[in-house]
Amino acid sequence: MSSFVVALDVGGTSMKGGLVSETGAVLHSERRPTPRAEGPDAVVAAIRDFISHLATAGDGTPEGVGLAVPGLVSETAANYAANLGWRDVPASDFTSLDVPVLLGHDVRTGGLAESVFGAGRGISDFLFLPIGTGIAGAMIIEGAPYGGSSGWGGEIGHVPVFPDGEQCACGQLGCLETYASAASVGRRYSLRAGLEGVRAEQVVSSDDPIAIEVWDEAVEALSLALATYTLLLDPSLIVLGGGLSEAGPALFDPVRTRLVKRLTFRDAPPLVPAALGVDAGMLGAALLGWRAAGRPDLGPDWSADVRSAPSVS
Ligand SMILES: [Zn+2]
Repeated sequence: MSSFVVALDVGGTSMKGGLVSETGAVLHSERRPTPRAEGPDAVVAAIRDFISHLATAGDGTPEGVGLAVPGLVSETAANYAANLGWRDVPASDFTSLDVPVLLGHDVRTGGLAESVFGAGRGISDFLFLPIGTGIAGAMIIEGAPYGGSSGWGGEIGHVPVFPDGEQCACGQLGCLETYASAASVGRRYSLRAGLEGVRAEQVVSSDDPIAIEVWDEAVEALSLALATYTLLLDPSLIVLGGGLSEAGPALFDPVRTRLVKRLTFRDAPPLVPAALGVDAGMLGAALLGWRAAGRPDLGPDWSADVRSAPSVS
C-alpha cells in the first residue's frame, strides 16, 4: 500500500483531480465539469464531493489535500474569484475529509510544479507563462512563485502592450491577452475574415494574409511583454505553456527572434516549452497536498514524465 494525497486543479470549465503518491506517481486521475452556472456554493459542494470520491479510489486515507484555484488565493482561503463568484471561502469548506488542506493560485501552482520537477527544475528565477483562453504568469523568484503584495502579481496578460489598443475584457486598453491568447487569436482572425469560430491553431498554420497579420500581432505583443519582464526581473529562463505553446516552432521561433532583437544591451533568456502540459496545475496541487501533510521535501526527484496515469473522464 502506498500513501497518497488528493490533488485537484479547479478551472472555470472543468476540474482535474488525481491521487499522487510520495514518489510522484499519479495513481489515479479523473476529470469533472465545474458547475459554474449553478453558483458559487454549488461549485464548492461539487469540489467537496469530487475530493471525497477521489479519495475512495485510493488504498486507505489520503495524507493531505492540495487544491489549485483561480483568483485571489491564500494558503488557507479562496478570497476572490470573479468567474466562480467566490468571496472568502476557507480551505476547510472544500473538503469533508479530516486531513490537512492547502490552497494555491492556479497558475502559480502550475509554476510550482514546473519549478520543482518540470522545465524550471533547479532554476531559481524564471517565468512560467501558460497561453490558453487567457494569459497569466507565474513569476518564480528566488525559487518560489511570487504573488506580490496582494496576490495580483503575475497578471502579465493584462500588461498593456499597445497604447490605445483594443479594449480588453478587463476594461483596459491594449492588453497582451487581447492580442495573444489562443482565444484572442481565433477571435481576431474570425472577425477580420468575416468567419465564425476559427481556432488559433488554424490561424497559426495558415498562409492567408489576414491570418499572417493576426499571428504577427500576437507575436509582437508577446515579444513586447517578454522584453518588459526580462528587463524588470532578469529571469534565466522563460517557460511557455498552455494550448498555444503546442504551436511549437511557429510560436517559439518568431517570438525568440523578436525578443533577441528588442533587447539591445543584454542577452535574452532562453524560451522553452513547459514540461508538464495541462497536468501542471494538478501536479502542483499534489505538491501542496504533500506540504499540507508535512512533507515539503517531496517533489525534486519526481519525474516530469508522469502523464501516463490511468485516467477516467
Ligand atoms: Zn486586460
